[in-house]
Amino acid sequence: MKELRVENLRVAVGDQEIVRGLSLRVPRGEVHALMGPNGSGKSTLAKVLAGHPDYHVIAGKVFMDGENLLELEPDERARRGLFMAFQYPSEIPGVTIANFLRAALQSRLPEGEELEATDYYAKLYEKMELLGMDRSFTSRSVNEGFSGGEKKRTEILQLAVLEPKYGVLDETDSGLDIDALKTVAHGVNSLRGPDLGILLITHYQRLLNYIIPDYVHVMVAGRIVRSGRKELALELEERGYDWAREGAAEPAFTR
Ligand code: ADP
Ligand code: MG
Repeated sequence: MKELRVENLRVAVGDQEIVRGLSLRVPRGEVHALMGPNGSGKSTLAKVLAGHPDYHVIAGKVFMDGENLLELEPDERARRGLFMAFQYPSEIPGVTIANFLRAALQSRLPEGEELEATDYYAKLYEKMELLGMDRSFTSRSVNEGFSGGEKKRTEILQLAVLEPKYGVLDETDSGLDIDALKTVAHGVNSLRGPDLGILLITHYQRLLNYIIPDYVHVMVAGRIVRSGRKELALELEERGYDWAREGAAEPAFTR
């Protein structure tokens, strides 16, 4: 089955359970938005999918195209086709975007195989053209002194060049300026297609004016309380998260 599948996942940080029985399926080729109030556990879910060591999986399973993701090391997950864009990407002074992406691609090749420079740059520039990015951008150090919009551009370029099967994009709950928002939207819209599944994590409905998701899921207190088509985001915008929480089929709070 070509999908990213989360089954009844429970995650703790220290002795606190943050993700509390979450199930979700993102088929390849679809864009799913995951929305929810601050502190509902969205970023925690993203970090667990990436394999962050601080987050302890108490129960549940995650499969990527049928393979047990939780058994794999973070770099293995990436090599198998999982891409993560974090809410707060790291700065890497002294490493240019071009070299960073080249190293990332190289690391995915089998031992002893070299990434040809000409092939690499051809691909890099092709993707930049697709995304409408200026080539000079790649000679800057990764995220160093970048604006919010520029960080997003780096992120989207990584997504484009690495060509993952699934992308999990954790968008900032605050401070995503209109420039950053449009960069993400334009990037996702240019890259979406049958080979890519996207889980777009966002606090604000506003982003979904630019990226029309196939499905919307609402996460409250560690689990999905509602799922629906794109209209759910609008309804949520109108009625707020309390409505989503109250109307949930399952009780959102069971400690
Ligand atoms: P969201 O992304 O939906 O805003 P988070 O996943 O960031 O939510 O956080 C959910 C809850 O988990 C919050 O109460 C937060 O304080 C807690 N949490 C997340 N990561 C950690 C951590 N590394 N240490 C302690 N608490 C954490
Ligand atoms: Mg978050």
